[in-house]
Amino acid sequence: MSDEMTSTAELDAEAPALTDVDERTSPVERQGETSKPAEAPEAVIRMESRNLDFFYGEVQALHGISLAIAENSVTALIGPSGCGKSTFLRCLNRMNDIIPGTRVEGDVLLDGVDIYTGDVDVVDLRRRVGMVFQKSNPFPKSIFENVAYGLKINQVVRRSKIHERVEKSLREAALWDEVKDRLDAPAMGLSGGQQQRLCIARALAIDPEVILMDEPASALDPIATQKVEELIYQLKSHYTIAIVTHNMQQAARVSDRTAFFMMGRLVEYDRTDKIFTNPGEKITEDYITGRFG
Ligand code: ADP
Ligand code: MG
Repeated sequence: MSDEMTSTAELDAEAPALTDVDERTSPVERQGETSKPAEAPEAVIRMESRNLDFFYGEVQALHGISLAIAENSVTALIGPSGCGKSTFLRCLNRMNDIIPGTRVEGDVLLDGVDIYTGDVDVVDLRRRVGMVFQKSNPFPKSIFENVAYGLKINQVVRRSKIHERVEKSLREAALWDEVKDRLDAPAMGLSGGQQQRLCIARALAIDPEVILMDEPASALDPIATQKVEELIYQLKSHYTIAIVTHNMQQAARVSDRTAFFMMGRLVEYDRTDKIFTNPGEKITEDYITGRFG
């Protein structure tokens, strides 16, 4: 069934919504089906995995993941530790390529183009599909240099242009007002929450289309977490965001759609309000109500 979908195509309003397949008995039987954002026939799909299998050597970490990520929205990936959330996220910009002995089967599409074919420029792919990690990882350089870094390696050379882009990115990352008077100060002197927003600014500077975030707030205190969540909410008007979180309240607060993973499989994918109020699978309900974790 996934063959009839192209990723940039508008979703077919006639297509069965995920919520319409309740009579299927087990989540496993759903593997291989394309999960569509159920409520939004007009949503444009920016990224999509189709029947994605992933292996660390002999060990299969992902089994037949088919998941469509809609433009200008936040898609949350939840599930118990070790279920494959980070592995899946890294498949979306080929970050797993750098781990020896790994192998991908199935497709990952960005605007309908398979990112795993030979002629894809991986550097350009990672510019288009940026990433923010759990641990903020600023370079031991100034605040300014941290944001300018990607611009320099991507050869946006004019100094005035760089300055403009750094300011724009810091503003977009809701950090400008806090750092504008000390752009030359070391990034390491910022608080944890500021450092994480700096890393988001660095990702934004090179003009990504999709932003992948792997537990971006899990090392932050509640106030810094709230700032990052507000930022994510703002960013989705310009970007397409996929976020891994083990914090279910966070998924409920920031995301439009939620994908629940378990043991390398996608159990259920639907609108976030549906997942958190009326999930289709018993096991999803058990997880979100904290019966296991
Ligand atoms: P999550 O992010 O949901 O906690 P991961 O994607 O990190 O899960 O891990 C999924 C599975 O893949 C786990 O069993 C984990 O041990 C394994 N795994 C993750 N990274 C590696 C790696 N670099 N090498 C081998 N196995 C790994
Ligand atoms: Mg992880």
